Amino acid sequence: MTTSRLALAGEPLPTVGHARAYVCGITPYDTTHLGHAATFVWADVATRVLRRVGVTVEVCRNVTDVDDVLDAAAADRAGSRFDSFAAVGQFRFDRDMAALGVRPPAHEPRAHNHVDDVVRLAAGLLERGVAYERDGEVLLRASAVGLADRVPDDGSSQVPPSARAEDPADPTVWRPALTGEAAWPSPWGDGRPGWHAECAAMALSVLGPAVDLHVGGADLRHPHHTAMGAMAEAMTGVRPFARARLHVGTVQVDGAKMAKSAGNLLLVSDLLESWPAAAVRLLVLDRPWAQAWDVAPGEIAAAADRLEGLYAAAGRHVDGQAAVDAVVGALLDDLDVPAALAVAEAEGGEAARVALSVLGLS
Ligand SMILES: [Zn+2]
Repeated sequence: MTTSRLALAGEPLPTVGHARAYVCGITPYDTTHLGHAATFVWADVATRVLRRVGVTVEVCRNVTDVDDVLDAAAADRAGSRFDSFAAVGQFRFDRDMAALGVRPPAHEPRAHNHVDDVVRLAAGLLERGVAYERDGEVLLRASAVGLADRVPDDGSSQVPPSARAEDPADPTVWRPALTGEAAWPSPWGDGRPGWHAECAAMALSVLGPAVDLHVGGADLRHPHHTAMGAMAEAMTGVRPFARARLHVGTVQVDGAKMAKSAGNLLLVSDLLESWPAAAVRLLVLDRPWAQAWDVAPGEIAAAADRLEGLYAAAGRHVDGQAAVDAVVGALLDDLDVPAALAVAEAEGGEAARVALSVLGLS
């Protein structure tokens, strides 16, 4: 028998019954780079491990198709409306995820279908006295929900504080639209949802008041996930919003985060032209999930070689339940892929086949 829980950051997940996972998804304005892929491949492995031990996992991965950056990119590059531009980005993303063997989520809500839910969320937070309205903007009062003292983990992907905020830590739930932006009606005038509120509204609508696992890149931990959780908790009274969290370490090139502005993107589609998809997955997975890492030159070639070795080990005629249990046990222990692979390589046979299958490498 293996251990009966999947240990991750937060409460361990019981390995019986049903689990709900919310994965913060893409803003579909660019092609998928290795940093995006890492988040979704790790989310995929967490759900495969849970399924391996008998848990049914319901995954909701949203699409942030109401977004300031997306609007600007659509207008700049395609001269198109945000929604048709987002559809093209979505198509490319789906193609890359399918190539990488990331299973499609059960639910894929799009922000533009949940604007009414954000309006109701804003109204509910005002009614509960934890939000305030200023000139058409609704803001969550950070001090009322325990957000005030948190420092952002990574300034690069954060929303700058609103000029209307009483405290810079107060996140926007709803805001007035600027000229030319897509806008929706609300009791506070025509406007748009705040980013954190979009995800909170989608999670509440699709999965209910709480989730078992919340997944995203490490740069989303705070304020995106903390604000989103605080809005959901204040609305429903159910705490915590997320029992466990998987915040995947940032992928860097020469010590810098991958970013379009830095010109250092490693696109998944480019990698897949030269390397098997399983080698790209192994490159992402063969390390602690929370750790930021630099893509070293030659590392993808080493991953491809190691994969060949694993396939050879899987072909050996040995089996032993203890080795299989050791592989699954390592994965249940904070998704320790390096430990699982070490057992798979040493023992071979069924243990290696199980490792390849659960990691989506076969
Ligand atoms: Zn999100």
